[in-house]
Amino acid sequence: MKIMAVNAGSSSIKFQLLDMPSEKQITTGIVERIGSDNASFTIKFDGQKYQKTTSILNHGVGVSIILEALIEHGVLSSINEIEGVGHRVVQGGEVFKSSVVINDQVLQQIIDLGDMAPLHNPANATGIKAFREILPNVIQVAVFDTTFHQTMKEDAFLYGTPYEWYTKYGIRKYGFHGTSHQFVSERANELLGSNDTKLIVCHIGNGASLSAVKNGQCVDTSMGFTPLEGFPMGTRSGSIDPAITSYMEKKLNVSSDRITDILNKESGYLGISGISNDSRDLENAILEGNERARLALDVQAKQIVDYIGSYYVYMGGLDAICFTAGIGENSAILRKMIADRLGVLGVELDERMNQLRGENLISTANSKVKVYVIPTDEEVMIAREVMSLQK
Ligand code: ADP
Repeated sequence: MKIMAVNAGSSSIKFQLLDMPSEKQITTGIVERIGSDNASFTIKFDGQKYQKTTSILNHGVGVSIILEALIEHGVLSSINEIEGVGHRVVQGGEVFKSSVVINDQVLQQIIDLGDMAPLHNPANATGIKAFREILPNVIQVAVFDTTFHQTMKEDAFLYGTPYEWYTKYGIRKYGFHGTSHQFVSERANELLGSNDTKLIVCHIGNGASLSAVKNGQCVDTSMGFTPLEGFPMGTRSGSIDPAITSYMEKKLNVSSDRITDILNKESGYLGISGISNDSRDLENAILEGNERARLALDVQAKQIVDYIGSYYVYMGGLDAICFTAGIGENSAILRKMIADRLGVLGVELDERMNQLRGENLISTANSKVKVYVIPTDEEVMIAREVMSLQK
């Protein structure tokens, strides 16, 4: 059966069509610059790529163009072949503890949660509405970035802020990248041959977060109320002393929104190095002797290891560390910088295995903690969730 996994942004729709339960990818594609006369539409399948520029004034038109193209190129013989659509939704709050079949009430709840995720939930909802209108008889499922982390206990998800902030305004740690943390931790348990495990998943991409997963359940994660918390990322600062924000507001004579913008878009790798938010650029600069590029990776590696140490203690041990996402899967340098700092936990990296691509065990046979690279697949995870909710 064919399932579509959809990630809708404010001006884009990314999608993947998967054959289930084989989990084989049939097509991927993206509609960009929705709302303009020169929007672009790209699909890839069978190793070929088709691209066209056209007017796409809203998400509904975007969805129609996607479906027409799939038929035109013979990927589908009719839209009735699509038996389910899974939508990535960023914030599920405490309302959603698992993925859910979308109805009018669910859609409204997703929109209402937009208060906490104004850049994401409204856009996700727009995508859902467009697909529901065009495929009204097909099951549509919301898969949230936050639900995997809903198993955290209060001591892990509460901040040291007034308790009423939590009860009245929902101020707590939610965590993000949940589909990736779930996919990778499930795969690690398969590789370890047990569910009775203590894992740390390091999802390190442009956005980055860690999770501590005990017996298949998330017990802690580094992102918080928003994806800004944690360690430095491509352009995000990660956690800082909260008093810095009002101090710098005065020093720079800017608004608090502008400070949040700087912490989200001009910090992390980019802010520390002054060069780029892309780890490949930093690695090249390091080879040329650029000290601030090295510092950007050093600060990130140090803080990642801080989280690993704290999760080790919180879980009472550790069986495996799993690296995933753009940087986690591809940067042998950062993995080594992290593993070298973990000698005290008995982590021993196999330098040769660390250079390889794809899924691999990259620790030595003597290592007390196994270290894996496990490529993530959020779309497969979304399609699995759709399957599990289909009657
Ligand atoms: P996001 O989904 O958060 O945008 P990704 O998971 O795609 O991020 O990761 C993007 C990061 O992955 C970039 O910093 C990029 O440099 C890095 N990356 C991708 N491929 C490689 C590679 N071959 N070597 C090193 N880094 C890579």
